[in-house]
Amino acid sequence: MKPSFWFIQALLIPISFSLSWAGVPAEKARAILEAGNLRFAEGKALAHSWQTGNVAKTGALGQTPSVAVLTCADSRTPPELIFDMGVGDLFVCRNAGGFDTPEVNATFEYGVAALGVHTILVLGHTKCGAVTATLEGKPVPGNISLLTKALQPGIEKIHQEHSDLSKADQLNQAVEALVRYQMMEVIDRSPLLQKAKAEGKLQVVGAVYDVETGRVRFLE
Ligand SMILES: [Zn+2]
Repeated sequence: MKPSFWFIQALLIPISFSLSWAGVPAEKARAILEAGNLRFAEGKALAHSWQTGNVAKTGALGQTPSVAVLTCADSRTPPELIFDMGVGDLFVCRNAGGFDTPEVNATFEYGVAALGVHTILVLGHTKCGAVTATLEGKPVPGNISLLTKALQPGIEKIHQEHSDLSKADQLNQAVEALVRYQMMEVIDRSPLLQKAKAEGKLQVVGAVYDVETGRVRFLE
């Protein structure tokens, strides 16, 4: 597939420096995120060089993040780094496993209603410990059971549907299934987000980050 103009543009010139999300339509968001991830994975990240300018700009003018991210708390998956974004670029919610809660949902509602967020990205990742623990189904101490209980509905059919696969491949299937499940949950739980989506003001996209290669794969 031929790279889009926006992908090339975003590869060459960091988004925060050149355009700012404020003027970027939703249909271009994925190309810009992909380009930032490519810069990161190839060791050509540029965001650090314009952070100071972003602090001054967003501090004076306010934030217009446009893209919200739901992802895992895993220390290997910081969205700003892996998409080569800067201060003011992404509106991020994280917890172990990357799942919707009433508070996460309210945060996204705020992003859409008040900040102009037009894209919610649900980002899973390979080798996720929270998903692994949920798949294994063993007892966990303390409040950790809150996490596995929350993740369980998104991956409960993995054992049945993929019984022929190795544990590692089952985990990959579970990570992707969880992303797709959370993409639905975020919208299903919120009439405000449903309305925004129905009116074409919001899109929800899913992707999986590979902790070994640094690359993000968007789900179709
Ligand atoms: Zn994780």
